[in-house]
Amino acid sequence: MNYLSIEEVVNACKGNLISKSKEVESINELVIDSRLANKNNVFFAIIGESLDGHKFINSAIENGCKTILKNKDNNTEIIGEDINIIEVENTEFALGDIAKYYKSKFDIPYIGVTGSVGKTSTRDMIYAAVSSQYKTLKNMKNLNNQFGVPLTLANLDESYECAVIEMGMSGFNEIEYLVNIVNPKIGVISNIGLSHIEMLGSREGIFKAKMEITTNFDESCTLIVNGDDDMLATLKGKDLNYNLKTFGFEKDNTIYCVGVEMDDDSTTFKVMMYGKIEQFYIPTVGEHNIYNAMAAILVGQTLNLTLDEIRSGLETLEITKSRMDVIKNDNYTVIDSVYNASVDSMRAALKVLNRYENRKVAVLGDMFEMGSFAEAGHRQVGKDASENADVLIAIGKDARFMVEEAIANGMNKENTYYFEIKEEAIENFKNILQKEDVILVKASRGMHLEEIVKFLSK
Ligand code: ATP
Ligand code: MG
Repeated sequence: MNYLSIEEVVNACKGNLISKSKEVESINELVIDSRLANKNNVFFAIIGESLDGHKFINSAIENGCKTILKNKDNNTEIIGEDINIIEVENTEFALGDIAKYYKSKFDIPYIGVTGSVGKTSTRDMIYAAVSSQYKTLKNMKNLNNQFGVPLTLANLDESYECAVIEMGMSGFNEIEYLVNIVNPKIGVISNIGLSHIEMLGSREGIFKAKMEITTNFDESCTLIVNGDDDMLATLKGKDLNYNLKTFGFEKDNTIYCVGVEMDDDSTTFKVMMYGKIEQFYIPTVGEHNIYNAMAAILVGQTLNLTLDEIRSGLETLEITKSRMDVIKNDNYTVIDSVYNASVDSMRAALKVLNRYENRKVAVLGDMFEMGSFAEAGHRQVGKDASENADVLIAIGKDARFMVEEAIANGMNKENTYYFEIKEEAIENFKNILQKEDVILVKASRGMHLEEIVKFLSK
C-alpha cells in the first residue's frame, strides 16, 4: 500500500480526528488484527462475531501502532501518548470506505468473482490467464468478505495492471456492499448451488443475491456466467443493460466445451469459440475446473487478450491448496479436497474420483450451514457416492444419512462405514483400506479432515 495521509484517511471515512499525533502523519497499511499493528498502519477496532476489536486497541498501541480507528460510541480508555485517534460511526464501513477511496487511485480493470462454489478456483484460473500479460492482484487465501475485500484492495500499488477479486456472501446485500467498494466492470458467477440456503431461503434467493454483482453495471460492463446452470441460463436471451457471455457444455452458450481428455493430474479440452475450435490445457482435473477455466477464457477475451496469451497463462495455473490436490505415495492415491464441502462441490469431487480405475473410496464428512436442507443434502451426496465410489466412509453427525441413502441406491452395505468422529475412522482404516486405493477426502472445513489426509499421505 502507498502512504495515505491521516487527513485522507479521515476524509475517506468521514471520521473525526479527536487526537492528533505529531510524529505520525501518514499510514501505509490497514490492519484489523492488533498483533500485526505497527507504527505505519492504522488499526481498525472491528466488532466481530465473537471478539470486539476495541478490547485490543491498547495492545495495538503496545505494538507501536500510532493510529487507531474506533467507533464513536465506544468508551475504551486509550493509554498512550501522541496517538492519532479517529472516531467513526462504524469501523467496518470505515474500512470499506477507505479501501474504496484508495482503490479509486488505480484505474485498472477490476473483475469480481462470485458463485456458490468454485469462486477461489475460478479466481485462480482468471489470475493465471490474465497474469500472462498483466500484473494482477488477487485476494490472499480466501479473504473474500467485508473485511477481506478491503484488505485485499489495500495491497494495490502502481505496479498492478488488473485485479481479480473473489466476493463471498452468506446473505442478501453482502455482494452489493462489496460491489459498491470494488465497482468491477467484469462480473463472473460460477454457479448457483445450495451453499448458505439457510440464510437465503431458496435457490431463487441465492440467484438473486449473486446477481447483486451487476449492481452499477451499464453497457460497458460484462457478466460472465455458467450457462449450463439452470438458474443462470434464464439470463440468456433477456434484454439486459450490460453484455452477457456464457460458458458450459451446452451448445447454446457463447463458448462451449466440445471435447475433454483428462489424465491423473491435468486436462486438455477443446472449446468452440465463435465458430472455431480452440484447445487449452490446465494442470488440474475435474469437469468443474473446465467450467472455471472457460470463465477465465471469457474474462481474458473480454480484456482483449489473445487466445495464445490466455492459453499460456492457464498452463501456469496454481490452484489454492486443498481444493483438489492429488497426493500419491506407495500405498494410496489421496485426493485432498478438505478445504470445504457443499452438495455441489461433493458431486464435482466424486466425479473426479469416478474417473480412476482402481478401487475408489470416498471419505466424506458432514457439510455445515445447511439448516433444514441438511438431511436432504447429505442424502443427495450419499446417492452421488453410490454412483461414483466403490466404498463410502462417512464421518460426522449428518453423514449417517449419506450411508443410508447410498445403501438405498444399491451400494453394498459391506462397502459402507459410518463413524461419528474422524479419530474412530482413522483407527479403522487399516481394516478397510487396501493398497492402491484411490481415496477422496472431503467435508466442511470445520470437520478438519486434513488430519485424515495427513494420516493417509504419510
Ligand atoms: P468459499 O465459499 O469457501 O470461498 P469457493 O466458492 O471459493 O468456496 P473453491 O474454494 O474454489 O470454492 O472450491 C470449493 C470446492 O468446490 C473445492 O472442493 C473444489 O474442488 C470444488 N469446486 C471448484 N469449482 C467448482 C465448480 N465450478 N463446481 C463445483 N464444484 C467446484
Ligand atoms: Mg473461496
